[in-house]
Amino acid sequence: ATLPYDDDNIFAKILRGEIPSKKVYEDDHAYAFHDINPQAPHHILVIPKGRYVSWDDFSVKASDTEIAGFVRAVGKVARDAGFVEPGYRLLANTGPDSHQEVPHLHVHIFAGKPLGPMLT
Ligand code: 5GP
Repeated sequence: ATLPYDDDNIFAKILRGEIPSKKVYEDDHAYAFHDINPQAPHHILVIPKGRYVSWDDFSVKASDTEIAGFVRAVGKVARDAGFVEPGYRLLANTGPDSHQEVPHLHVHIFAGKPLGPMLT
């Protein structure tokens, strides 16, 4: 079972503007910002504005409008950043085995160099 959403998680605070972040993009459904500890030359996080703990939680509870808006936002962020031609990687950790650290759904966008094989 998914944990209840914690309104004190760090990305909730970023969405409320209580903690600063380096904004990349924002619309009705999504907010994108630079990861504070980049793991590639470009490392952007995209989060839905709704209160979803994880990819699983989002896929079950979000409306079709929210899901479509979020997925399109992830694509737009990567496209507008110029990542499509060289390529990029998306990652969404979900649940304890994945090492998800922040309990608000986030999709990582990695780009800026050949990323190598998928990690295991
Ligand atoms: P996870 O391990 O949950 O998939 O990824 C969490 C990500 O959030 C990590 O890459 C980490 O560097 C990033 N992060 C954690 N706290 C903050 C913060 O306060 N600001 C920003 N911009 N990124 C953060």
